[in-house]
Amino acid sequence: MSSAQNLEPKESARLFERAAELIPGGVNSPVRAFNSVGGTPRFMVSAQGYELTDADGANYVDLVSSWGPMILGHAHPAVVEAVRAAASNGLSFGTPTAGEIDLAAEIVDRTPVEQVRLVNSGTEATMSAIRLARGITGRSVIVKFAGCYHGHVDALLAEAGSGVATLGLPTSPGVTGAQAADTVVVPYNDLEAVRAVFAERGADIACVITEGAPGNMGVVPPVEGFNAALRDLCHAHGALLVIDEVMTGFRASRQGWFGCDGVAGDLYTFGKVMSGGLPAAAFGGSVEHMSFLAPAGPVYQAGTLAGNPVAVAAGLTTLRNADEAAYATLQANADRLGSLITAALDREGVGHTVQYAGTMLSPFFTDAPVTGYADAKSAETWRYPAFFHALLAHGIYPPPSAFEAWFVCTALDDDAFARIEVGLAAGAKAAAAATRPDGA
Ligand SMILES: *Cc1c(COP(=O)(O)O)cnc(C)c1O
Repeated sequence: MSSAQNLEPKESARLFERAAELIPGGVNSPVRAFNSVGGTPRFMVSAQGYELTDADGANYVDLVSSWGPMILGHAHPAVVEAVRAAASNGLSFGTPTAGEIDLAAEIVDRTPVEQVRLVNSGTEATMSAIRLARGITGRSVIVKFAGCYHGHVDALLAEAGSGVATLGLPTSPGVTGAQAADTVVVPYNDLEAVRAVFAERGADIACVITEGAPGNMGVVPPVEGFNAALRDLCHAHGALLVIDEVMTGFRASRQGWFGCDGVAGDLYTFGKVMSGGLPAAAFGGSVEHMSFLAPAGPVYQAGTLAGNPVAVAAGLTTLRNADEAAYATLQANADRLGSLITAALDREGVGHTVQYAGTMLSPFFTDAPVTGYADAKSAETWRYPAFFHALLAHGIYPPPSAFEAWFVCTALDDDAFARIEVGLAAGAKAAAAATRPDGA
């Protein structure tokens, strides 16, 4: 298993060709298409613990964890059983259910929010949080940071990270000039730039939205005091601070990024881990702020499948099994992975920095710390495709983009790390041998 395997993914190639006839680009979310690393996206058929199995029968140690949600590993018995039990009681009622209360209570227990509204995706959560911020303040301008990704919300696609970064897009056609004009983009970790925006447009700013710790340009944690200063600036100008914890929530620590820096925002968004791997997300805040939402208040927001009982069962059971011991294991696994990456790259003399946000991490091919999107883009990202494919060939599945976080799960064991070490040795050699393309 630790030697090169499955160099020709025949069945995945056949499926990808067929998918491309029926689905734009052959995928339902862009980064899955391997555009920035090249090659054939692997079609997965099953997963268990830390291991993915593809359509050609090849196995991979999964370092993506479905982009974050699968912190307990795949097909965790308690989660699968909870889903089975919920499904056998009916898939959806379009009425309130008791499980929604339990999931809300679990989220409220771990974070600064007093109330949450459940939705179906992180995109929906940030879209709704922004509408709420605008409704509460009666203002229209939103401040976001370059390299932060908040889902594919029109107002938030400007200089977004994740797939937008992977594909090298400045923003997206289809976003109107009016929507773009209401969004101000500032460099991440640049407080002076934020102060300048408030000095100029402070009375029009509804909110600043930031990832608790960005993970969508690779992992770029806030500099000391950054989130607290954002909160103070917002409050001095009557604006709200929206902390997007869709990625960091219940992942960076038990309390998400809030558990790492203790700075409370006004509105929060959650997704990924709290979904347990099914479509579920949430946004929340104080009772005072959340009371603006319909039916309690005038800001409209709704969802046919919001709070779906099967998704709620998966999310709730995942969170209940993600106890302090699980987070200690996650942190140890993240540290171990980061150390192995560094050891392998050091051995081959490849300049790099591994950055962490709690249990999230990512390597950058640069010696200098990466503090924002410009730094992330100016790293030697052209080494990444070779690094990625050598790992893949050795049965390791890292994110198929240099601008994404790596996500560990609690299920990783010594065997998994032994495989990772072998893969990384080959990956580091390939990264060292990669050549800078013209113009890069
Ligand atoms: C993934 C992500 C989103 C979007 O969530 P989806 O469920 O993909 O719509 C929003 N914000 C952050 C920080 C994310 O990482």
